[in-house]
Amino acid sequence: MEPLDQFHQEIKDCRRCRLSETRSHVVFGEGDPRASVMFVGEAPGENEDLQNRPFVGAAGKILTDLLGRIGLTREEVYIANIVKCRPPENRNPLPDEIEACSSYLWKQVDLIQPRVICTLGNFAAQVLLGRKVAITKVRGQYFQVRNFFVYPMLHPAAVLHQGNLRPSLEEDFRNLKAFLGKRLDPERRPEQMGFF
Ligand code: URA
Repeated sequence: MEPLDQFHQEIKDCRRCRLSETRSHVVFGEGDPRASVMFVGEAPGENEDLQNRPFVGAAGKILTDLLGRIGLTREEVYIANIVKCRPPENRNPLPDEIEACSSYLWKQVDLIQPRVICTLGNFAAQVLLGRKVAITKVRGQYFQVRNFFVYPMLHPAAVLHQGNLRPSLEEDFRNLKAFLGKRLDPERRPEQMGFF
């Protein structure tokens, strides 16, 4: 069994926090266990909780669409959340719930070893960067953390509610494509580009 699948089995009945009392599933995440690009959202919503899959509702449609526009499929990346269980009524996750769950995300990161983690929205950016940030200030920039880059993006759900934000999210995806293209270009060595 893949170590990531094994880890999924280990935590599928997690009771570390109160969200376990109301959730249907621990929505672990899905995609390529060796993906170089990982997307991390906030927490499952109703559709995700019922289907046991991340980003399958309206925000997920936007994510899947934007991935397609830069030539990526959901199967080629890895998609997960900071908090694995749905908060009731889709409220924001509470600090102790994030604290209880975040070691699961770090373990996923250790097993997947992505080059870039695209955080979706404020909560994911703050957990991955380890500090309070304003998403509108940090979006579209690369931050080196350990042996990967964190690339904060707006949350697709924000675009659903405020259509005027969509061009910014599209721009961040186009820039991600350019970044990945450079990373994969064998003509240019990583040290010439200031990576790692
Ligand atoms: N929003 C998230 O942050 N994650 C999901 O999985 C779905 C919606």
